[in-house]
Amino acid sequence: MNKNSSNIMALAPNTSNKRETVCIFGTGDFGRALGHKLIQSGYPVVFGSRSTQTSSLIPKDAEVLSHAEAAQKAAIIIIAIQRQHYNFLTPLAEILHGKVLVDISNNLKINQYPESNAEYLAQLVPGAKVVKAFNTVSAWALQSGTLDASRQVFVCGDDMEAKQMVMDIVRALGLTPLDQGSLLAAQEIENYPLQLFPMWKFPILLSLGLIAFFFFYCLIRDVIYPYVYENKDYSFFIAISIANRICPILALILLALVYLPGVLAAIIQLYRGTKYRRFPDWLDKWMLCRKQLGLVALAFASLHVLYTLVIPIRSFVRWRISSHIISQVLNNKTEPLDTTNAWLSDSYLALGILGFFLFVLLGITSLPSVSNNVNWREFRFVQSKLGYLTLVLCTAHTMVYGGKWFLSPSSYRWYLPSAYMLSLIIPCTVLVVKFVLVFPCLDKPLTQIRQGWERNPQYSE
Ligand code: NAP
Repeated sequence: MNKNSSNIMALAPNTSNKRETVCIFGTGDFGRALGHKLIQSGYPVVFGSRSTQTSSLIPKDAEVLSHAEAAQKAAIIIIAIQRQHYNFLTPLAEILHGKVLVDISNNLKINQYPESNAEYLAQLVPGAKVVKAFNTVSAWALQSGTLDASRQVFVCGDDMEAKQMVMDIVRALGLTPLDQGSLLAAQEIENYPLQLFPMWKFPILLSLGLIAFFFFYCLIRDVIYPYVYENKDYSFFIAISIANRICPILALILLALVYLPGVLAAIIQLYRGTKYRRFPDWLDKWMLCRKQLGLVALAFASLHVLYTLVIPIRSFVRWRISSHIISQVLNNKTEPLDTTNAWLSDSYLALGILGFFLFVLLGITSLPSVSNNVNWREFRFVQSKLGYLTLVLCTAHTMVYGGKWFLSPSSYRWYLPSAYMLSLIIPCTVLVVKFVLVFPCLDKPLTQIRQGWERNPQYSE
């Protein structure tokens, strides 16, 4: 047998694996997209519609029948219809008895109704086995095949067998079912698509607040102060100089804020002598959005890199260099190389490059496709050990930036220190406290507490 014929054999359809017919109520956008995908995956599809006339939009291998006729042809019926039209199902209750009804609907507002759409469907057709699924997948993604971002399909329902049947279909479509439990979870699943970056809210609002604060701070120090005292117009600093001050400041502060809650949690656990008491809500929420804080920090660090790369082509910088050279020529005097300055400048750059490299590494390992491929220990090693090393390097980069003027009172303007000095407060605090926590007298009890030991056990035998 030649190679080609064996391939043809392998590709021939396996008739013994014939899939069961799936019925879809509703020939709207989602119904058609799902029907199309089901047919591609080998499922016979029958549509239940108010109009049995077929159209060019409906997949050509599908049948279009009345709701009652279509329901009789399949054990699974996907309801691709908005909740407000569900009452047409009540007269069909007898036909739908014992069938698996898949509710895929979404609402326009979070908690729009007292009960979830799936629970409402179960009340309307009490004899049916209702399963919630597919509501987080968009019709467009199904049709175009661009499902990378939303491969997960949340499934919930009270009947295990019905849920299993739906999860088999989900898998056959190349998607990943995630069992969320009973139908009680439906309301939460219906709220998912309505949430607007819930974990990103805090990092973004915090970043906006910090941007506003540091923008005005730098504006006062770098633009208004020279204007008032030297009558110099440095307003063009807003475009690059001030932006390139704010970006590294935010990157450093946000990176430190990724590690601050862990340090606070350790202090709380040491103080309480147990890990079995809940952290305050604000700390819990803060811990949950650490990844997003880190990614926003990485975005600011990347912007800082870009802004830094354009420094040599800035007109102001070129003017300053050329006027410095010309004044040396006019005075017939050259300045000797200041090796201390050269050291400071090279160390500053080296620390920044290494810090940014580790920052990018942290960002890459936080991507699900990468973090799913490392074990828990490896993930913790990268996010904790390398994370702290990144914080140390970036903090040192900022300190060395100050060079000889670091903490010098002459750099104050209107009693305001340079903005980079303010940015060091949180990272230095985190690093000092972390350093103290590493001492054996604190690290040992903390490790014991995290392994379940309690200073004053609540439930002593
Ligand atoms: P759609 O394009 O408006 O289609 C809804 C279909 O429902 C209509 O085509 C119609 O089908 C049927 N219908 C309308 N009024 C009806 C009535 N009074 N009685 C009986 N059937 C009626 O909506 P869709 O975008 O496909 O969405 C359908 C459901 O899927 C919604 O619950 C939505 O929340 C959910 N969903 C949609 C998407 C999406 O990307 N579109 C994603 C996830 C979930 P016939 O004309 O064939 O009867």
